[in-house]
Amino acid sequence: MQRRTFLQASVAASVAASAAATPVVMTVRGPVDPTKMGVMLVHEHLFSNFGEEPAEPPVYDREKLLAAVVPYAASVKRLGCGAVADGTTAWFGRDPLLLRTISERTGLHILTNTGLYGAANDRYVPRRAVEQPARAIAEEWVREAEHGIRDTGIRPGFIKIGVDAGPLSETDAKLVRAGAMAHRNTGLTMTVHTGDSAESAGRQLEILAEEGVAPSAWVWIHANQCKDDAAIAEMARRGAWVSLDGLDRKTLDRHVELVLALRKAGYLRRVLLSHDGNSFRAGGKNPMREWSMLFTDLLPALRNSGIKDEEVQLLTVENPSSAYTLNKRLV
Ligand SMILES: [Zn+2]
Repeated sequence: MQRRTFLQASVAASVAASAAATPVVMTVRGPVDPTKMGVMLVHEHLFSNFGEEPAEPPVYDREKLLAAVVPYAASVKRLGCGAVADGTTAWFGRDPLLLRTISERTGLHILTNTGLYGAANDRYVPRRAVEQPARAIAEEWVREAEHGIRDTGIRPGFIKIGVDAGPLSETDAKLVRAGAMAHRNTGLTMTVHTGDSAESAGRQLEILAEEGVAPSAWVWIHANQCKDDAAIAEMARRGAWVSLDGLDRKTLDRHVELVLALRKAGYLRRVLLSHDGNSFRAGGKNPMREWSMLFTDLLPALRNSGIKDEEVQLLTVENPSSAYTLNKRLV
């Protein structure tokens, strides 16, 4: 009897544990089954105030913004897009409520982020974060992950950090460390705007290792800007995600070339694709950057280059859902 009670208790415990471990992607409308995301663009901006004075929360003409972004986002959904990770960070325009409205009106799954953007020479890093230790910054990001952003109740789906080109500055290294600490607590994937420096990418993985976090918790945003294909492949070999996310008319051929190079090296499983588009730039002052060429140009070009349907599925559906599923990746 005692034994049966014990077994019942452990069955109950394991049911509870497996329920808690149900894989999810956290969107602005709550948790979603990762297998239901569809084709996901991993680095776009539905809107931003980048280039404007830093402000948190941001100020937008909401009606003008929605009138521009909703029809465009709906048109990308009609092309086959299922989900978008929005890389607009606090202080240059992150607005979870607007993202939720756009998600409700279009049916797109949208992820917002916690974190800070240290590129642009720390222009969008608030003074207090320059002065705080990494742990205090991480605590704020964990609080957003657990309780939602400001008083919206909307939880981030990933961590977004930016670092300047070249060697990591002290502040940028601290932001990466804070990201690793926050990952340990939340399982949120770290996506880091890194630019062309493989050295900076390598140093970031060292910081992750110091904090006990695996390379698979980290996305090299803008890896396509790196000229050294072998260095990109090396980061993939180490288990990092490499994001080829600068897709536009000028870079289409380079995106095809990089996908083929990484396929040849055997790392298609680590590759993510996106545009770094922006459907409402500088509060609507600047013309939009499209985020639809993946569907109209890149996928047809990849198929013409011999990429098979199952490889397209891997690049556009399976890899992003795997990269953005909440999961503590520790070493
Ligand atoms: Zn971006």
